[in-house]
Amino acid sequence: MKPQRTEAIILHTFPARDRDKLVVFLTPEQGKRKGWAYGARSLKSRFGASLEPLAKVLIGFVERESDEVVRIESVDLVRSLFPAQQDLINSIAATYIAETVDTFAQSGDPSELIYRLLDHTTSALLEGAPALPVIVYAELWMLRLAGILPSARSCSECDRPLTRPLRFDERLPGFICAECAARDADVIANDVADAIDNVMRLPVADFAQTQPPTEVLVELRSLAATLRRNFLGHELKSFEILAGVL
Ligand SMILES: [Zn+2]
Repeated sequence: MKPQRTEAIILHTFPARDRDKLVVFLTPEQGKRKGWAYGARSLKSRFGASLEPLAKVLIGFVERESDEVVRIESVDLVRSLFPAQQDLINSIAATYIAETVDTFAQSGDPSELIYRLLDHTTSALLEGAPALPVIVYAELWMLRLAGILPSARSCSECDRPLTRPLRFDERLPGFICAECAARDADVIANDVADAIDNVMRLPVADFAQTQPPTEVLVELRSLAATLRRNFLGHELKSFEILAGVL
């Protein structure tokens, strides 16, 4: 049995047995992990309120070699998402971002960039950034880190640098140059192409500060949704709930 202590963000928890919780958490060095928090549902739980979804914590756990699920020993709250949860849109946005990350992050796969993406986007919501640009940022970067969002800099077919207007072929899927493009390839408006560049180039708070117009953000979400559905074969559970409040 090896005791370990690491920074983590709680993705979600499930009630288990009478008094326990099964906790899914994301770590920078070990990717997604699962752990038992024994007694976490009892009133006098030593875990207190630190096991809420999207809380950033320091988590101590014990790992048994034969068991994929660890035993959680201690949880110290670093940052609660509670203030952002007072706002309905931000709260649903945070849930949606957590589901996006949970869907694409692999168990045991070291994924520091995915961890930082979740950390920075939830922190932007806490600091009062508008939800829509933060959601778009999280969606596009998650697809990028999962290797699903193709480069918008070079042609997916011939690798030549892309110029404006940007064209997208849903069948590849990928961005393609004028010569490789089939006649029915989508031409992407320049302000949408600029926003893709900004997402890839800027930290999330700076991207939100460029105040992209809502129409541009809606276009980017639709591009992300196409890529995600192509890959997963379905939409995320909280996608519709989020669409209802935005
Ligand atoms: Zn080409």
